[in-house]
Amino acid sequence: MSKRDYYEVLGVDKNASNEELKKAYRKLALQYHPDRNPDDKEAEEKFKEAAEAYEVLSNSEKRTKYDRFGHNGLRGGQDFHGFSDVNDIFSHFSDIFGGSFGGSSIFDEFFGGGRTSSRSRQRSSGTPGTDLKVTLKLTLEEIATGTTKKIKLKKYNKCNTCNGSGAEDSNSFRTCSVCNGAGEIRQVSRSVFGQFVNIAQCSNCNGTGRVISKFCNTCSGEGRVYDESTIRINVPAGVTDNSYMTLRGEGNAGKNGGSAGSVIVIFKELEHEYFERDGDNVIYDLFISYPEAVVGTEVEVPTLNGRAKLKIEPGIESGKFLKMREKGIQHLNSHGAGDQLVRINIHVPKKVNSKEKELLKELQQMPNIKVPQ
Ligand SMILES: [Zn+2]
Ligand SMILES: [Zn+2]
Repeated sequence: MSKRDYYEVLGVDKNASNEELKKAYRKLALQYHPDRNPDDKEAEEKFKEAAEAYEVLSNSEKRTKYDRFGHNGLRGGQDFHGFSDVNDIFSHFSDIFGGSFGGSSIFDEFFGGGRTSSRSRQRSSGTPGTDLKVTLKLTLEEIATGTTKKIKLKKYNKCNTCNGSGAEDSNSFRTCSVCNGAGEIRQVSRSVFGQFVNIAQCSNCNGTGRVISKFCNTCSGEGRVYDESTIRINVPAGVTDNSYMTLRGEGNAGKNGGSAGSVIVIFKELEHEYFERDGDNVIYDLFISYPEAVVGTEVEVPTLNGRAKLKIEPGIESGKFLKMREKGIQHLNSHGAGDQLVRINIHVPKKVNSKEKELLKELQQMPNIKVPQ
């Protein structure tokens, strides 16, 4: 591909001054800047072409050679670097363009403020508070229906005297001397396209633009006090062991009105005397005697919600489960509840007296008692 004439590339005439060259290049560079033309190969080529033209013409020695011999005059020597990467162009010309655009306004205009994201950051006063973790032990009964718990914990709370500001009153402030009340610090850095203005929050005043001249007596200027607090935790039904919930804004208060952290509540399920949990079902082991298993009976069993009657049909086998509908744990995210599953166990006595032994032997001879061979 034959190269275009450098003067043509920059759109200037042969007698253009250095100032005119610079101006022309700057214009093209902005137009074809890769940030403004993402994934546009043609723009990138134009961008490189302009950089190359400017690099040659802005150097009087190279320009003279070019004027006399054209592109051939520059080949093979040390005259031209060649730009393979647009980043090379930035670094190569950074000194040429530094400060040329006079501040951030042009930059913003051209690049839509995309790089000045710090500017759009929310200005928050104070330092945010930290999170707290608490472990909450729950019985299966509490989990089954959900519950409300109150717990005491030590944490930072907003100071009521100064309402978190840390100042004695509304007149106890003066303008921050670091940022002069702006709340932000502007840092100017140079690049090929001129000045970048980086805006950072002033750390002296945390972006508020003012500092306290007279501290609140209660909190000594921190805007928060450390003491014991009681928090209410609404535990939904159906939570599982080691799961957790986050109570936003219940954690440590921030300094000087900063947002409060969270309390993270980790649930621990206590072992139950009778029940074994299986998802939202609970399993209960019921022991009945052999005669009861044969002729049936009605028993009373514990449930998570008091005792309840359960009918055992005659001829029930050991290991069978009887379902008590919706006597289990309420589902966490839907209506209804799990079941209580009653596992039948035939109780075999370890010891019998002589009378019982006699009766059992007699029973053993009965036609329906013998195990069929
Ligand atoms: Zn205070
Ligand atoms: Zn400041």
